[in-house]
Amino acid sequence: MQTLLLLSPEGLASNPGLLIGFGLLTAVAAQTGLALIRSAKRLTQQQQRFNLEMERLQYEVKLAKSRWDLAEQEKASWNGWRKFRVVQKAYECEEVYSFVLQPHDGKPIPAFRPGQYLTFGLEIPGREKQLVRCYSLSSAPSDREYYRVTIKKEKAPPDRPDLPHGVGSGFFVDKVKEGDLLNVKAPAGHFFLETDRETPVVLISAGVGITPVLSMAREIAASGSKRETWFFFVCRNRADYMLKAEVDALASRADNIRVHVCYSRPGKEDVKGRDFHGEGRLNADVLRAVLPSNNYDYFMCGNGSFMKSMYEGLIAWGVPEGKIHYEAFGPATIKKTSDTVTLRKEAAVTAGKAVSVKFGKSGKVFPWNPALLNLLDFARANGLQIDSGCCAGSCGSCSVAIKEGEVEYLVPGANPEAGSCLTCVCRPKSDLVLDA
Ligand SMILES: Cc1cc2nc3c(=O)[nH]c(=O)nc-3n(C[C@H](O)[C@H](O)[C@H](O)COP(=O)(O)OP(=O)(O)OC[C@H]3O[C@@H](n4cnc5c(N)ncnc54)[C@H](O)[C@@H]3O)c2cc1C
Repeated sequence: MQTLLLLSPEGLASNPGLLIGFGLLTAVAAQTGLALIRSAKRLTQQQQRFNLEMERLQYEVKLAKSRWDLAEQEKASWNGWRKFRVVQKAYECEEVYSFVLQPHDGKPIPAFRPGQYLTFGLEIPGREKQLVRCYSLSSAPSDREYYRVTIKKEKAPPDRPDLPHGVGSGFFVDKVKEGDLLNVKAPAGHFFLETDRETPVVLISAGVGITPVLSMAREIAASGSKRETWFFFVCRNRADYMLKAEVDALASRADNIRVHVCYSRPGKEDVKGRDFHGEGRLNADVLRAVLPSNNYDYFMCGNGSFMKSMYEGLIAWGVPEGKIHYEAFGPATIKKTSDTVTLRKEAAVTAGKAVSVKFGKSGKVFPWNPALLNLLDFARANGLQIDSGCCAGSCGSCSVAIKEGEVEYLVPGANPEAGSCLTCVCRPKSDLVLDA
């Protein structure tokens, strides 16, 4: 009680010694408190630095491991054709089958990058020449023991029912069976997802265009990456929805992967909210409504008109051209702004000195049309047939010998045979005479 009285304002005022002592004590307590706060702050900062360093190290280890894996697996690659056995042919939906392939020699197969394709040399009874066709891998690189492709039989165009159905896809769907051997080239292609990055991605597909982007999504899930991933897919309805079980598994297994499926013509049994998310076409307006921003890398695959409209919609939304990556299963329908600028420049340069292309076998000569992107399209536009496969300069089936003149390539890394050109990815640099 006496102590309390002494420490009261009146007590302290009447005793200056005590007042000084009390002041000193308060100052020491304040100093100690400040020192404690500072060291707690230092500890928190040290902890944060340690955590960041750990994350950086983990990332470096992951990067080094994936580079090592890739280098190891590239050793298992091959040149030219290798025989693969069809170990499973599985029905997916109307006119679509998946084919699981294992090497006939029983040796390891190289990993591929999700989004790449296989090139097949089909020996079709009744055809003199091998037919070369490319099909994206619908399996994921983590499926180490096998490759899988998923193929839709291409019907004659609705306005030309007189034309034959697709030869290669028809052969796969109607004739190829389990146990058959097929000629296959090693995985190739520039449309793939860099799996050592964590940048957010949007994967977009329509119909059978699902194959390369499903491979990307499955690899993100299998690697345990926390990369923010959006998976948009459109098909007509449930009856057309190939590989559905795998898309459903993605959505339920990985928190960072969100799936949005549109049915353009839902069936009677299809229930919105349960079977699909949106009704109607999948276009950039759907993406704008669903995505929190446009700040993603976009990977898309589908038919020509779908990709063209999606590409234009994304550009109109302000997505930089360099962030949009796509694979065309047929002739290119997207002309990038930069291509158009190059073509315009080129047209300006070649104005006044028209370049001509002579097709040696028929003797026909045509002036080069700078509005066309490559010699293959140019030949077709002039009624000439040249074989083709990947349309990306990889499979070699559109190769034609050059008798005179020079060409230039539109893609990096094109590797034509000496004296020949890959017509799907080059255009004339001077007057040309082709052995076609
Ligand atoms: C990189 C890449 C990846 C691919 N991935 C896949 C995939 O995962 N799954 C898949 O299903 N496909 C994929 N494709 C497409 C595939 O390679 C083939 O292009 C497709 O299967 C059609 O080939 P086809 O031999 O069956 O048709 P083709 O015989 O080449 O015929 C194509 C179309 O032309 C029509 N046609 C026939 N004759 C004429 C004529 N005289 N005039 C005009 N039209 C005619 C046919 O009816 C058909 O509609 C991919 C293509 C590429 C380049």
